[in-house]
Order: sequence, then C-alpha cells, then structure tokens
Amino acid sequence: MAHIHNFSAGPSILPKSVFEEASRAVVDFNGSGLSILEMSHRSKDFVAVMDEARSLVKEILGLGDDYDVLFLQGGASTGFLISAYNMLRENNRGGYINTGSWANKAVKEGKWVGDALEVASSKEANYNFIPKGYESPTDVDYLHYTSNNTIFGTQYHHIPDVTVPLVCDMSSDIFSRPIDASKFDLIYAGAQKNMGPAGTTVYIFKKEILGKSSADIPTMLNLKTHADKDSMFNTPPVFPVYVSMLVLRWIKSLGLEEVGRRNEAKANLLYGEVERNGMFKATAALEDRSWMNGTFVLADGIDEGLNQTFLDMAAEANISGIKGHRSVGGFRASMYNALPIESVGALVDVMKAFEEKYG
Ligand SMILES: *Cc1c(COP(=O)(O)O)cnc(C)c1O
Repeated sequence: MAHIHNFSAGPSILPKSVFEEASRAVVDFNGSGLSILEMSHRSKDFVAVMDEARSLVKEILGLGDDYDVLFLQGGASTGFLISAYNMLRENNRGGYINTGSWANKAVKEGKWVGDALEVASSKEANYNFIPKGYESPTDVDYLHYTSNNTIFGTQYHHIPDVTVPLVCDMSSDIFSRPIDASKFDLIYAGAQKNMGPAGTTVYIFKKEILGKSSADIPTMLNLKTHADKDSMFNTPPVFPVYVSMLVLRWIKSLGLEEVGRRNEAKANLLYGEVERNGMFKATAALEDRSWMNGTFVLADGIDEGLNQTFLDMAAEANISGIKGHRSVGGFRASMYNALPIESVGALVDVMKAFEEKYG
C-alpha cells in the first residue's frame, strides 16, 4: 500500500494503530468470538465501550461530575437543531457569530426553534477573519459560535467573553489543544474531523441545562432523553463510538498539551512556507489562521492555470486532499491530530519545487 499524506478535510486521517485495533474488533471483539458489529449494544462488552468513551471525554477536558457526555447520531448538522432546542429559554432567542458556512447553517436551524440573532459576522470579507470587539449580547438565551471554520481556514484562538451561556460547534478542532471546557454550557462536535469516523456526534454539556428549555422538544432531539438512558435510549452507532474511544485513548496517552504542541508546529511549518514562498498567499487573517485547516491560494499575478499544475505535483508526491473548498478556491491542507508533521514537510517540499519550476 502506498504511503499517502492524507490532508482530507473530513472524514479525516486517524491514527494507524487505531485502524489496526478496530479492524481486529470487526473480526473478534475482546476474544468474545463475536464481531463488534454483531453484538448487542446492551452487552457488557459494549456498555463498557460507551462508558469509557464518555468518561475519557471528561477526563481529557478536565471536566467534573457537573458535566455529561453523550454520543449521538445525526452529525453536527443535527447539532445545530439540538443545541437550539435545548438552550432556548424565556428570551426565545439565540445569538450567533457568523464565521462561515457552518455557522450560517446553525443560524438557519436556530430559526426553526426560535429567533436567531446574528451578533457579528465576517461575511463581507468572505469570512477571512474572526469578528472581535462586538458588543456582548444580553437579551439572548445563549451565544453560539463555531470554534474552527473548516472551510474558510479561520479559528478562534480565544474563548468569547460573554455573560450568557456559551454554545460551541467544535467539530473540526475538538481535542486539538488544551481548552477551558468549563466555560461552555454545551459543546457538540461531529466525530469525523478530529475524533473518529463519521457516524457519531459528541455532546458535552452542563447537567443543569437539562429540562429547562422553553421549547417543546421532539424526543430524539432532547438531550435529557439520552442523558437519562446513558446515551443508550436507542441503538447507538456502536462502531463509530468504539473507534472514537480508541482515538480518545490515543489522545489521552499523548496528553492534550502534546497534541497542541504538535498541531502548532505543523501549522507554523505550513504557514511559514506560505509566507516565504512567492507563489502562494494565505487567505485568512494572520492572527486567526486555523491550526487545523490551512487555506492558501496562488499569489496575485500567478497564472491561475497553475492551480491544477500544483495539485498534480502534490498528487505525484502522494499528497491527497489539498484541493480547496469551492467557496475559497486554491488549496486547503487539513492538519488534524493524527497527521504527522512529516506529511506537512512533504507538502512544503512540493511547494518549494513548484516555486523553483514556475517562479
Ligand atoms: C463538518 C462540519 C459540520 C457538519 O458536520 P456533519 O457531521 O456532516 O453534519 C458542522 N460544523 C463544522 C465546523 C464542520 O466542520
């Protein structure tokens, strides 16, 4: 099998050791003689997986018994709706920071449930920065933001300072570095960017938010339904939860500090080359550049026809997944937790070779 440098934006690279262990569990889980895919989710073996996954999330984030963790289905796209339903209170309104496509979708779903007020936006600059200096809203039930903008390559390097409950879509940077998770009332994240395979979404929330919504919540969208049943109200996505648990063990063994150091080093290596290399320019504002998704385009004056040439050169070097999202163009190097720095080095080598040939 060729060694591929996998810069996919999601579903994304996971540790190879996890793939190996997961593949064994598909054939025979824990020596039970059964595949993990064919056993009851109520079996002792699987209940232990769910319990460990939930407690690893709290342990890694340093959260106590006042928080609960669920592994549900529906993707972060259902999280837009679940967060609004569960956080709505007497103001009948959520506040949203609009930092790109995913944030927009969160606003749209928020409007199914109540009012959704756009508190700040970077839309006029094609979302190339994180809004700051806006007035912190008070007449909303919660403030929702997207910590990392997977498509536009911007990331919050701070936690918004607000007095209302804080809700965050952390799909593409959860567990990528230490954070003060106790500042949040509700965090949700689709697993497939940084935590596991597609098919499960993690919800991390203060227990005290349950049962307080002013909305009439459909059963499956009510976090209390799932919390009351230890994330087993209905059949959970057993395999994605299992693989996520393996990834969480790997993250725990490294420690979030080390994971963060590695991610910062990768980002510095990539952006350093983007800055140095006259063929390219970054699309995101310097202070808001994402450690997870590095977006860059050809520099002004460089023949647009060379876009494909660069992609071809990258493919030649076994670099996969760097074509930019259509709303930004150019290139996007997603550097999630499991991507080794050597892969970023391989990309930088191609950028240098490209400059030498066409610069
Ligand atoms: C990918 C992504 C989503 C959508 O996740 P799904 O699991 O596909 O619904 C939402 N928010 C962010 C920030 C994402 O990166």
